[in-house]
Amino acid sequence: MSEKRDFYDVLGVSRNATAAEIKKAYRKLALKYHPDKNEGDSAAEEKFKEAAEAYEVLSSDEKKSRYDQYGHAGMSGAGGGGHGGMNMDDIFSQFGDVFGGAFGGGSSFGGARGGSRRVRGSNLRVKMKLTLQEVTEGVNKKIKVNKLVNADGVTFTDCSTCHGSGRVTRVAQTFLGAMQTQSTCNACQGAGKKIDKKPSGADQNGLIRKEEVIEVDIPAGVMEGMQLSVTGRGNAGPFDGVAGDLIVVIEELQHESLRRDGENLHFESYVNFVDAVLGSSIEIPTVSGKAKIKIEPGTQSGKTLRLKGKGIPVLQGYGTGDLFVHINVWTPKKVSKDEKEILEKLRESDNFKPNPDHHDKGFFQKMKDMFQ
Ligand SMILES: [Zn+2]
Repeated sequence: MSEKRDFYDVLGVSRNATAAEIKKAYRKLALKYHPDKNEGDSAAEEKFKEAAEAYEVLSSDEKKSRYDQYGHAGMSGAGGGGHGGMNMDDIFSQFGDVFGGAFGGGSSFGGARGGSRRVRGSNLRVKMKLTLQEVTEGVNKKIKVNKLVNADGVTFTDCSTCHGSGRVTRVAQTFLGAMQTQSTCNACQGAGKKIDKKPSGADQNGLIRKEEVIEVDIPAGVMEGMQLSVTGRGNAGPFDGVAGDLIVVIEELQHESLRRDGENLHFESYVNFVDAVLGSSIEIPTVSGKAKIKIEPGTQSGKTLRLKGKGIPVLQGYGTGDLFVHINVWTPKKVSKDEKEILEKLRESDNFKPNPDHHDKGFFQKMKDMFQ
């Protein structure tokens, strides 16, 4: 499979193009590669679809920001890397917005379509709460959904408005001249059918609500707010149509002590003052359980230790983030009389006078070293 092109490159616009510029660029490409003008040209058809997919993403604030952040990986469902799944019907239904209805709902393209089409059901959205461990390891979950399915025993007859063709033909004046366009029949939403008989409980589209258990594979590395789509597992389509998608919206449950930042994790560790001076070994939490780390003698408060690969895997990428342990030296708030005596003796010791340049380079010194 060839590498997916950058959506901005596809439309030939810069990354900071405005919504109007994006729309304009897409209109130009859609007209150039429109199937009605490039009959039988499969390269043009590919370009037409590619442009439509790019526009579909870049014209939506939400999808665009996800794409800007994660690239193609952020767009695809659990299956990974996939096509946005736009078929010609999706593309033409987008045209109303782009061309102000000049092309209508359909096209003569794709002769095999034979008029009526199968109406697509709506997407079903569910929220899924995941623990940090599930996010890190990936998880297979069974979820119960209440969705529209085809009712048993429904029968159909031809739609009387379009006589079963699913579309109505009209001549429209467009900026390309007069074009005969076909649009979807409103009465049957293009299905060419209407309900003849339906069992009780079924709605006017022949659908009925039913509980269903769906298995969803969540890849490792997903993030709060990310949406994974499971193709064809949403609501069934009206008039025996095709099912919509199941959209799984990720919600991340906060870990009790690990904080996530992208693929990295952070832990604030408080160590005993004596351990910081003399060195020690402390236990810290990781996603997969506890781990022991060594505190070197003379460790300063504010030091950060990095545990490579103990973070979160990069979604559909390579590598794993790290776990950063931030060392905070804990200062006791109260001391006993005996403790105070010992500390008073230490107070005067030369070793206890702060000397950051000598013991541990401060921030500014480190910056200086970097630029020298
Ligand atoms: Zn109809």
